[in-house]
Amino acid sequence: MRKEFLPFSRPSLSDDEINEVVDSLRSGWITTGPKVKRFEEDFLKYTGAKYAVPLSSATAGLHLVLLALGLKEGDEIITTPMTFASTLSIPTLCGMKPVLVDIEEGTLNIDVSKIREKITPRTKAIIPVHFAGQPCDMDPLFALAKEFSLTIIEDAAHAVGTEYKGKRIGSFDSISIFSFHPNKNITTGEGGMVCTPDESLAEEVSLLKFHGMSREAWKRFASSGTPNYDIAMPGFKYNMMDIQAAIGIHQLPKLDSFIKRRTEIAEFYNREFADVDEVITPKYAPYQQLHAWHLYTPLIKIEDLNINRDSFMEELKKLNIGSGLHYKAIHQHSWYRKNLPQQEGSLKNADYASDRILSLPLFPDMSDEDAKDVVEAVKKVILSQRK
Ligand SMILES: *Cc1c(COP(=O)(O)O)cnc(C)c1O
Repeated sequence: MRKEFLPFSRPSLSDDEINEVVDSLRSGWITTGPKVKRFEEDFLKYTGAKYAVPLSSATAGLHLVLLALGLKEGDEIITTPMTFASTLSIPTLCGMKPVLVDIEEGTLNIDVSKIREKITPRTKAIIPVHFAGQPCDMDPLFALAKEFSLTIIEDAAHAVGTEYKGKRIGSFDSISIFSFHPNKNITTGEGGMVCTPDESLAEEVSLLKFHGMSREAWKRFASSGTPNYDIAMPGFKYNMMDIQAAIGIHQLPKLDSFIKRRTEIAEFYNREFADVDEVITPKYAPYQQLHAWHLYTPLIKIEDLNINRDSFMEELKKLNIGSGLHYKAIHQHSWYRKNLPQQEGSLKNADYASDRILSLPLFPDMSDEDAKDVVEAVKKVILSQRK
């Protein structure tokens, strides 16, 4: 058994990031400023997006996007149950009604073929989540959106670096929202980005993120700006700081190599678990894509074991292997059980995955030995708990 605990995720930070943060601290300019501007420009170049608005988190991004689109109480949005809290909590807090569509068995992405039956005259947007870094099937999604005049808001929290049919997520004719939380493929500590080709929407999000002041308002204390400012509309306080962007500036150039390493480890897991009946490995969608492998999320066939998923994770922990839970399906959580009850069996793939899923360690700095330890521990727990 390994001596040191292996977490399921850990950011890869080096002297580049450390020195850039120190540079910010020494410069006396630590909040929104030139480093945020540079990160925004680098991000535009990387993703191929037309406009990008740096923010304090992806959750903030979703909030501002819903407001900027003018969505309101009673509007319905269609999304997946296999997602993080914010995808539903923000529309809910805005008075909107989330409508859940089941996931595909293999990719755990929203089943696009089941969306049509959930569209009503009140449906305004679809929020697909590129689960674990694998793109949803965008072509049929865009066809549906066009047919019913719906907006596509991509929850791209897992998908920085993901490509669908040769195009990077962020560059589509939609709105995409990225997260730079420390578990994500690149980090800024906390942080997010909204990308869109729609100039007026980008402008609106930008105003809303900082007290309703213009994009250049941060310059009001610099020699290049004027101390006066105008409040064009009431706004929030969701701006990204230079201290955060300082980290992102040095994460972004490493993203492709991070993804390469993540892919190696994920495919190693896939090979190692191919002949273990109790492990259902994640599947690639049939279309051309680049999977960013944000998470490695097999399903454990608990019906063949003496323990449930939570105990399985406990057993792994005893062997010094950490794991994560992405996700307990959103409609299984207490608030949603009470306030957004689902018809029994209507989300059966999500229910099945929800009870069996776990995230095994996957991060660029993992060694081959670490990955072997994970496989060994998973097999050991299965052997000791087989029915
Ligand atoms: C992480 C995550 C978010 C929230 O991102 P923050 O930057 O932490 O606000 C939203 N949706 C999904 C699917 C996520 O994984």
